[in-house]
Amino acid sequence: MLKVVKFGGSSLASGETFNKVKKIIEADNSRRIVVVSAPGKRFSGDTKVTDLLYICHAHIKYNAPFDDVLSKIEDRYREIHASCGLSQDIETEFLKIRSTLSKKTSVDYIVSRGEYLNAKLMAEYLGYTFVDSAEWLVFNYNGKVDFDKSYENLAKIMETYPKVVLPGFYGATPDGNIKTFSRGGSDITGAIAAAAMNVDMYENWTDVSGIMTADPRIVENPRPIENVTFAELRELSYMGAEVLHEETVFPVRQKNIPLFIKNTNDMNARGTLIMEGFDEDEESKNVHFITGISGKKNYSIITIAKNRMNEEIGYVRKALEVFENFQIPIEHIPSSIDSFSVVVASKHTEGIMHELISALNDRLKPDSIDIANEISLIAIVGRKLASNVGIAGKIFTALGENDINIRMIEQGADEINIIIGVDDINFKKTIRVLYNLSEVDE
Ligand code: ASP
Repeated sequence: MLKVVKFGGSSLASGETFNKVKKIIEADNSRRIVVVSAPGKRFSGDTKVTDLLYICHAHIKYNAPFDDVLSKIEDRYREIHASCGLSQDIETEFLKIRSTLSKKTSVDYIVSRGEYLNAKLMAEYLGYTFVDSAEWLVFNYNGKVDFDKSYENLAKIMETYPKVVLPGFYGATPDGNIKTFSRGGSDITGAIAAAAMNVDMYENWTDVSGIMTADPRIVENPRPIENVTFAELRELSYMGAEVLHEETVFPVRQKNIPLFIKNTNDMNARGTLIMEGFDEDEESKNVHFITGISGKKNYSIITIAKNRMNEEIGYVRKALEVFENFQIPIEHIPSSIDSFSVVVASKHTEGIMHELISALNDRLKPDSIDIANEISLIAIVGRKLASNVGIAGKIFTALGENDINIRMIEQGADEINIIIGVDDINFKKTIRVLYNLSEVDE
């Protein structure tokens, strides 16, 4: 059994949290590939090391003194070093990094040092081998990961070093220049390492006990989701659930590797298991027909109506071409016989709505075009929706009883989600009503 375990910044923010991580790793000897983020926030109002490194880069770029911010960063590692009783020469590491800093130093190199230093400290603390991700994770010159090469590199390294700590967030181009992922990218490093070694499990340790059924800023103490499929997770994340970096799923899903979200502060909490699907036995334990609820505000619904539209072949295509010409991504297209609506995120029509409408009028000669703004889209996601009769009825009854007017309804073709549109003012209320409904057993 072999596992990749990735720890986020809040799990590695201080000596104290390093200690929790060590306990977790020592509790299971299959946890032999460790991926770390840079030190995150120790308390609310604290600053992540990666943010400090971005500030440091900006100072260097604009010729402002950067010694203060760099010292602050170094102090974070000094605290971990002292508190974990480590012996490596961290001061020389700092000097080496300082000596590379100039106006020409790339931002990617500077911000990657957060993960680099943390991995060095964690490796000594665990007695594992530090492997610089610049040595195995390869980016092509087009900025995309070279998966085959990266898999091959890591597999080779692990033949010699069976227990490793890898810094997350960055790799290197073939000429050796450091390249980072976008923010939160250590999740992706973990996924690539997991796929490279075809591990039995990718554990992603964070500061919550899994993915919540609904946003905890809206619903008080929501229940963590126990099991979620990759397809459900995609729906939930797309509609706003903040879970993992978006690109995390691809490498593990492709190799069918289960992904577990776990809580560093509560190692015995079950967490959330993400897989392609679950066996019948596991499914029978699941009494909830809704897996999760997520949503986003600020959409616009543009409704185009024309009498006998159904007889005009190509009418919808022409409308969509107009949206394409304006480079506006489309979310949904609910339709009826003589009208259809196009749902878009309002940010894409900001400042161009008049132009868009006049282009639609020119091209389509419709009877009317109506616009509804300040619409929220809410996704009710559940793999059990497809096989259970009457769920849509329950959802709409609950919303009706709570005086929530539904402005749009869509069911995904694979029937794992129902999307409803409501006015922005009803956003939170709708999520709470749906959450309460999801808590009732089938
Ligand atoms: N440290 C980086 C960030 O704050 C990457 C990560 O933590 O995943 O975005």
